[in-house]
Amino acid sequence: MRRLPRGEIVAVPDVTLNNGATMPQLGFGVFQVADDEAERAVTAALETGYRSIDTARIYQNERGTGRALRGSGIAREDLFVTTKLWNDDQGYDSALRAFDASLERLGLDYVDLYLIHWPAAARNLYLDTWRAFEKLYADGRAKAIGVSNFTVEALTKVVDEGEVVPAVNQIELHPYLQQEELRALDARYGVHTEAWSPLGQGQGLLSDPALAPIAEAHGRTPAQVVLRWHLQLGNVVIPKSVTPSRIAENFDVFGFELTEPEIAAIAAMDSGTRLGPDPATFS
Ligand code: NDP
Repeated sequence: MRRLPRGEIVAVPDVTLNNGATMPQLGFGVFQVADDEAERAVTAALETGYRSIDTARIYQNERGTGRALRGSGIAREDLFVTTKLWNDDQGYDSALRAFDASLERLGLDYVDLYLIHWPAAARNLYLDTWRAFEKLYADGRAKAIGVSNFTVEALTKVVDEGEVVPAVNQIELHPYLQQEELRALDARYGVHTEAWSPLGQGQGLLSDPALAPIAEAHGRTPAQVVLRWHLQLGNVVIPKSVTPSRIAENFDVFGFELTEPEIAAIAAMDSGTRLGPDPATFS
């Protein structure tokens, strides 16, 4: 629970994953944040009320993130920590080793969610990697396991050939890339969709003229409108900011509802534009 400057008291809603675990629908991401800065930003996020933090081995800030988590005084069971396995650690044994190293850097004895960062299909190792993830899950060291950037083909393979259905597919998703097909497939398989770059990385998307009237109608900012849109679609979101005022702004997204016509206006912004690599070819 958290009292916002406007006075309302909010609790971030949880989503229930396919294994019964719960995950806050709004979390905080630390991509492109240096280790020391991650410690400061995660501390600010936790003070604001965020409880879910999304890092990755490749971000090189698991140590700073872990320092902030451990230094916060917040009980471990009240935190939700995600990290991800990088492509060059794919494979059964190497994934188990990479997980140990991530836990060591975080200074934790389990993570709430461990993700395969990219399918890296050309390496043809994601099914072996998934078997290692299933072991980490069975051992209770990852409370939930999932994938990121998995395409229709890769997700279907893991669902068909794995023992455990991924809890989450974390994909690039914002008004310019709405991922209707993948979201529908995730839903069909019982995989929760989590949006990365939910704000489209800031500037370009947030100054789109389509958002301004909606923001004005609610007395909110374009960023708050975009995050509200995700939440109403059911997506998990993990906006990133190192700016304290934006960390607070991005958390203040619960006291209003977008109308159907506003949702439709945002749906019309989809241009299929990717900011990141194409998961079908990225290795
Ligand atoms: P976001 O869509 O969260 O946008 C972050 C950018 O927007 C930053 O430049 C930030 O600036 C700016 N910003 C944040 N809030 C506001 C605001 N209220 N008003 C204006 N500008 C704002 O992009 P990310 O790419 O960081 O994605 C979020 C998270 O998703 C990552 O941190 C990471 O955890 C995850 N991710 C996962 C990927 C994957 O492959 N699985 C790939 C990419 C991201 P500033 O910080 O200067 O305030």
